[in-house]
Amino acid sequence: MKYVDEYRDGALARDIAAAIAAEAQPDRLYAFMEFCGGHTHAISRYGLEDLLPPGLRLIHGPGCPVCVLPVGRIDDAIRLARDPAVTMCTYADMMRVPGSNGASLMKARAAGADIRMIYSSLDAVRIAETEPARQVVFFAIGFETTTPPTAIALRQAMQKGLANFSIFCNHVLTPVAMRAILDDPEPIAIDGFIGPAHVSTIIGTEPYREFAETYRKPVVIAGFEPLDVMQSILMLVRQVNQQRSEVENEYIRAVRPDGNVTARALCAETFEVRENFEWRGLGVVPASALKLRDAYAAFDAEKRFAVHTVHADDNPACECPAILRGRKRPADCKLFGTACTPETPVGACMVSSEGACAAHWTYGRFR
Ligand code: SF4
Repeated sequence: MKYVDEYRDGALARDIAAAIAAEAQPDRLYAFMEFCGGHTHAISRYGLEDLLPPGLRLIHGPGCPVCVLPVGRIDDAIRLARDPAVTMCTYADMMRVPGSNGASLMKARAAGADIRMIYSSLDAVRIAETEPARQVVFFAIGFETTTPPTAIALRQAMQKGLANFSIFCNHVLTPVAMRAILDDPEPIAIDGFIGPAHVSTIIGTEPYREFAETYRKPVVIAGFEPLDVMQSILMLVRQVNQQRSEVENEYIRAVRPDGNVTARALCAETFEVRENFEWRGLGVVPASALKLRDAYAAFDAEKRFAVHTVHADDNPACECPAILRGRKRPADCKLFGTACTPETPVGACMVSSEGACAAHWTYGRFR
């Protein structure tokens, strides 16, 4: 397939691996965090860690939108969905994420709730249009990549005057999460970041500058194909060896320095930053998520249905919070591959293909 196969060439991957091995200093350790679940998936799928020298470690970050939603917000969605007047529209992965006491949207639907899996935010708008007697709620999740489609749905709903459409907004912000990881009172050793691919197509390269300049952590924005990831690791090794800390863009075929200006303007018109938002693993992080602007308050499901999120603890046996902070790996969890598999997920990291546990399990990564 044109523009894909070129980035999956095994011989080239081995050449880059040889360059990494030649340039990595044998007497030091390198620890790079891949923020995105898409990179975690690629690393597991193509066995990239097996190509790296022993002193180079990849740390999985919190960039899986399904994984980072805390139990309390899942409980909110389930409560909303159980309202007999509500039709809840959600992406498929959210159906199986466990809430409190083993509840999930999947189980709520089996018990009679009207929950529909959709592929696009505009599917939810269409359902609201064609079923005016239903209160249609779109369960909006994700980082900066999925925010513009929600903004488009919001604007369409307003233009159409849909009084039965609302959004349960859970969009979160990547740079703030990266800062939270670096500001952790007990920080883990990170020498640099493999920067997000799709998120960067929207926000561009500028928001990462503070990590390079203030925190002295190099960032290399990388595509999701295996050669992208390998090349970004080589670029990070070079920056570390040369004591540079810069934002570099490996993914030049898709990411521009200023990102997608139109998409960002649309998001700025429809959303504003929340004061606080809880993340699974990171806890409550100020200014790390978005909510609807007052001009769109009529479409805010939290206002329409008086949602007041209550914190709920993760399953104590699940290590997702530590995995999302880069402190543990999936195989460190006692339930990995035993009680917890993609068919029977105990935690969110086993649900989505971008979750570290699902990626490791699917591709047989047991270390
Ligand atoms: Fe949680 Fe399952 Fe991963 Fe363990 S294997 S950390 S229970 S998602």
